[in-house]
Amino acid sequence: LLRHKLTNFEPKKSNKYWTIENSIATYNIDKWGDKYFSINSEGNISVSPEKNSAKKIDLCKLVKELKSREINPPLIIRFNDILKDRINALHDSFLKAIKTYKYKNIYQGVFPVKCNQQKNVLEKIIEFGSQWNFGLEVGSKSELLIGLALLQNQNSLLICNGYKDKKYIEVATLARKLGKKPIIVIEQRDEVKRIIKAVQNLKATPLLGIRAKLSSKSSGRWSKSVGDNSKFGLSIPEIMSTIKELKEANLINEMKLLHFHIGSQISDIAVIKDALQEASQIYVELCKLGAPMQYIDVGGGLGIDFDGTKTSSSTSTNYSLQNYANDVIATIKDSCELNNIEHPTVISESGRAIISHCSVLIFNVLGTSQISSQIKTSHTKPQSLIIENLIETLNQLKILTKKKVNLSEIIELWNDAKKFKEDCLVAFRLGFLNLEERAHAEELTWSCAKEIAYNLNNDEITHPDLYEITETLASTYYANLSIFKSIPDSWAINQIFPTIPIHRHLEEPFCKGNFADLTCDSDGKINSFIDNGKIKSLLNLHKPEPNKDYLIGIFMTGAYQEALGNFHNLFGNTNVIHIDINQDNSYKVKNIIKEDSKAEILQLLDYDSDSLVESIRINTESAIDQKQLTIEEARKLIDQIEISLRNSSYLSE
Ligand code: PLP
Repeated sequence: LLRHKLTNFEPKKSNKYWTIENSIATYNIDKWGDKYFSINSEGNISVSPEKNSAKKIDLCKLVKELKSREINPPLIIRFNDILKDRINALHDSFLKAIKTYKYKNIYQGVFPVKCNQQKNVLEKIIEFGSQWNFGLEVGSKSELLIGLALLQNQNSLLICNGYKDKKYIEVATLARKLGKKPIIVIEQRDEVKRIIKAVQNLKATPLLGIRAKLSSKSSGRWSKSVGDNSKFGLSIPEIMSTIKELKEANLINEMKLLHFHIGSQISDIAVIKDALQEASQIYVELCKLGAPMQYIDVGGGLGIDFDGTKTSSSTSTNYSLQNYANDVIATIKDSCELNNIEHPTVISESGRAIISHCSVLIFNVLGTSQISSQIKTSHTKPQSLIIENLIETLNQLKILTKKKVNLSEIIELWNDAKKFKEDCLVAFRLGFLNLEERAHAEELTWSCAKEIAYNLNNDEITHPDLYEITETLASTYYANLSIFKSIPDSWAINQIFPTIPIHRHLEEPFCKGNFADLTCDSDGKINSFIDNGKIKSLLNLHKPEPNKDYLIGIFMTGAYQEALGNFHNLFGNTNVIHIDINQDNSYKVKNIIKEDSKAEILQLLDYDSDSLVESIRINTESAIDQKQLTIEEARKLIDQIEISLRNSSYLSE
């Protein structure tokens, strides 16, 4: 097995020795899958709705059945049961922490709408969370409207964050009269004046909160969410003057909540603990200043373990859900008890931790490409010296690799091959080599690379002087998706999502490759993968079989991706399916949200498809007049365009 290299070589051995365990080890699915995802005896990815559940469905079979209903990849499958399990797990952890620490109040979370604003998703979150009066957090006027319309439970909280103008404040204030529980969180100093004015105009008072700018250090990508220069929140002097102003306006009795948010995907529990201590102390001081405080809102930031290493790497967390809940509850309790202050209701705005796992993005591979190393033997003409040198290097490598491998000699020969290739480029630029000779030289260089890759073991080929060989020989797999639409964070902030074929796990993935998407943008690539906590640029993949699907899943994509996805190159929304898994391991398709047609995408940009067709039709008339196009051809062209406008922007078979 060791000698059998994961390159794009044709396999020389049978697959008999390859087991599911080998696949599990290759893709680390037992670590990041968090019991929701595993590999079944047929070598397909299996999805389980709850932790340790016997209920399971075969993801590959599901996708094939969806295809038979004309619901083609790329598609997002949302598993309602996983979403429910995540909401249950969050609440169970807080309930357990409250019991353990004898905390004398409750946990009452909210879901940040910005994380996934889709109606079907929010309705499910509200349904699954209703037993705990789970609420919503909104960050804009549009999100506020969604919150007011969807959240019918009068005990659920509606946390109003973000920039607030007069209209935002007035709607949130009046909504209290509907029996709802909106809390306007003061995030900017100038909002105080607008709130006071709204109260005078409306003769109604809102519930108020205040967001503190913490000084504790954060870490990771969103570390600028804390500190003096953070975008949101009030500094300590600003909090003091706000309290004074609210007292003067007789509004201090409505000040109930302290909020902070130190960024998303916080990997290190130490960072969370520091922030909690500082915020708890501010809470205590606000009580002492006379505000009738009731809630402490610890914001988002609860991370998830994308790579399964349980470390403080940016794609993991060095704490569990239970550790997080314990620290939140214990820290707030300690500060309050030391100061004889009643325990507040604890709110968290955990988005990523709730919604990530339930969404799987599936795409099909359209084809692959790799460098050419087919050496043509028909070169009868005298060879140039550079090519003679390359032939000699290849021959020496062939002899050497047959013997016991001497790594330093192989490295020396590889360096020679690279130098000859560079010489060949210089000679070509100066006109001493023709195109055919240059092609021959390149093929010889790649043959040297293959000779080395095929004969060295994993440790040897990863030697720093040889590592580029694997990269060079890797294949590009063409993915039927747009990363800008479906996983924009992989482009924007190098977010890495677990990526794995959803079938063929009884076969060794011999090839190494990465993915290029459909957009004509060189950035449209997926070339960072998680490997036991390390990041690698190539993934082990199978060789696609002719006329058969090769289906890849990108997991844990439920948070932020749909909200941030854009229409780069006019690739539209993909199909989205909501699935319930039944007790007997069958499933029910709950909702199907059909992909955008080209006409729908064009309409978003103010193009009317009828006018587009008409303008092309006018062109065809002139072409017919000038005898460049027959009437039959013109009709065919217009028919094709009209059909195409009704169809998906993604590639079909
Ligand atoms: N609350 C606020 C104010 C946020 O800005 C965010 C996102 O960054 C969240 C909650 C959700 O954070 P997360 O997805 O890390 O839970």
